[in-house]
Amino acid sequence: MTSVSAQSTRGLLLVHAHPDDESIGNGATMARYAAEGVRVTVVTCTLGEGGEVIPPELAHLTADREDTLGEHRIGELGSAMRELGVADHRFLGGVGRYRDSGMMGVADNDVPGCFWRADVDEAAGHLVAVVREVRPQVLVTYDEDGGYGHPDHIQAHRVAMRAYELAADPAYRPELGGPWRIAKVYWNRMPRSVIERGLAEVAAKAPFPGVAAPGDVPGVVDDELVTTVLDGAAYAGAKARAMAAHATQVTVDGPFFALSNGLGQPLLATEYYQLVRGEAGPDRPETDLFAGVAR
Ligand SMILES: [Zn+2]
Repeated sequence: MTSVSAQSTRGLLLVHAHPDDESIGNGATMARYAAEGVRVTVVTCTLGEGGEVIPPELAHLTADREDTLGEHRIGELGSAMRELGVADHRFLGGVGRYRDSGMMGVADNDVPGCFWRADVDEAAGHLVAVVREVRPQVLVTYDEDGGYGHPDHIQAHRVAMRAYELAADPAYRPELGGPWRIAKVYWNRMPRSVIERGLAEVAAKAPFPGVAAPGDVPGVVDDELVTTVLDGAAYAGAKARAMAAHATQVTVDGPFFALSNGLGQPLLATEYYQLVRGEAGPDRPETDLFAGVAR
């Protein structure tokens, strides 16, 4: 028996830093395309070992105690992927190849084996193997600042953009598969007007100790930089359930959520992108990441 995904000609590859980033940033997008039969592949670069833990009963998992949070988050990611209908999720270079580097400026930035210290070309080689295997038309990752300056997010950007180039180069490591040119590359975005409205709503209604600032939210830019708007209203529930599956990292409450800092943010089913490589489709803004891609 051949699965639906194996038959689909359309492929979407998302490159993320830690388990939970994919559901927060692209949950509705992934659920929509998975439901449409697109081959969706998520590559996560670290296990998120350095994260804090929200539920007190799981506090023993943290790096300064048992240091088993990474293994626990593999399970959370698997649950989130099931909620979104995504069957293909992988860790860059295999489970545990790169360790969480922590926030910028902390001692974990210098730990050997952390993702921030990884050689970009070597890490990109692992991703090239995936690109040449699954042959996606669309790649989604972060901007050059990683959306908000986290070292692992910056590194994920560098590795993804390098792999985009190398995968298409016939001279680069032919043993990893035939060259593949990804048609379109997007960076995750959040229009400033949307997040300002959303945070005002959080301030008025959300049940959290505080409210996030726009600077806490990844990928915020002036509205005019956003090229592509994905209406995921039909998948809002799936996105919320996927985010809630990351229970050590995320608290979901209705149309709001908070990370371990307790600062509320809006849980948005509409997701936003900036096309940075490839040709845009005919609509402004685009409403489909595959717009203009030959079927
Ligand atoms: Zn992250």
